[in-house]
Amino acid sequence: MNDDYYDLLGVSRDASTEEIKKAYRKLARTLHPDVNPDPEAGERFKKVSQAYETLSNPDKRRMYDMGGGPGNPMGGGFGGAGFDFSDIFDMFAGASGMRGRSQGPVPRQRRGGDILRRTQISLRDVVFGSEQQLSFRTAARCEVCGGSCCAPGTSPTPCTVCGGSGHVQRVAQSLLGQMVTMVPCSACQGHGDIISSPCQECSGHGRVQKERTVTVRIPSGVEAGTRIQLRGEGEVGEAGGPSGDLYVELSIAADELYERAGDDLITRVRIPMTSAALGTSVPITTFDGERTLDIRAGAQPGDVITLKNLGVTALRSERRGDIKVELDVVVPRNLSGEQKELLERFASVRGEEAPQHAGRETDRGGMFSKLRDRFRER
Ligand SMILES: [Zn+2]
Ligand SMILES: [Zn+2]
Repeated sequence: MNDDYYDLLGVSRDASTEEIKKAYRKLARTLHPDVNPDPEAGERFKKVSQAYETLSNPDKRRMYDMGGGPGNPMGGGFGGAGFDFSDIFDMFAGASGMRGRSQGPVPRQRRGGDILRRTQISLRDVVFGSEQQLSFRTAARCEVCGGSCCAPGTSPTPCTVCGGSGHVQRVAQSLLGQMVTMVPCSACQGHGDIISSPCQECSGHGRVQKERTVTVRIPSGVEAGTRIQLRGEGEVGEAGGPSGDLYVELSIAADELYERAGDDLITRVRIPMTSAALGTSVPITTFDGERTLDIRAGAQPGDVITLKNLGVTALRSERRGDIKVELDVVVPRNLSGEQKELLERFASVRGEEAPQHAGRETDRGGMFSKLRDRFRER
């Protein structure tokens, strides 16, 4: 559909440039996408702008009048020579500030920052879970003003410059005449009110630096590097704003007796060769107290003995891992004459004088690291 440019602007064929400008300005204020979200209005605004671009330029208008015709504007559409459209859009970008006004004054409250703290826990903490007291310096609510930022007994007074709206009108001359835009009020920084007597304790911020102690529940079964999030335990926000979060990052101290392999705990006992041959029992220390490890006669180096349900309590579960004990058999050194004689007699009775080359045939479990690897493979 081709529309007549004069009809679009609602002006007569002999309208002056001033009249055309006036008509366009009037239409633009109701049709510009910044003030009218209706897509149809946007379409019309484009057409009206095109009409204005042509008719406001004497050369283009003459050509249009001579029959260039709508939809065939000689000299191009938007952004054509002699007309800087960015002027109009800048002007309306300002007008869009009016939408800001409808949002009201800018609140002083701001969310507090998040905090990251690291803490080291013991393997016992991993086995059973624990509670840690964590102390650190952080922004805390000002107790004098309770976060209001005002000296006790006072309150903010409405800003007289902007009347509490947080915005003021700025009047600017533009291509299309006087344009009114809304800008944040500098007297109140857009807050709409002014704190004339700020709280002395917090210098009007509503919060102060303070030592705080937080109790952190650490579940059993956690891994090193885990971050526990405590909502709202971070920095208190400015002016009574919401608090940030506290993140506690865990590391696990090495234990003297046990190493962790998933939910199992691995350790090692060292027994003399004779005990391995004859069988014995060894007291061992677990996180559940003393236990007795029974070693059958004929136990071999690298044998693994399992103590059920004495390992790590799994994360978010009641189930517990096991303790795995690897046997280390110590062969005696520096034998005395008598000891040597006894062993030689023992060997002779057993018929063990001639050791054999076993080649690859071995059932030795081997090194501690191999044991760990086996657990990992499961
Ligand atoms: Zn205060
Ligand atoms: Zn103000």
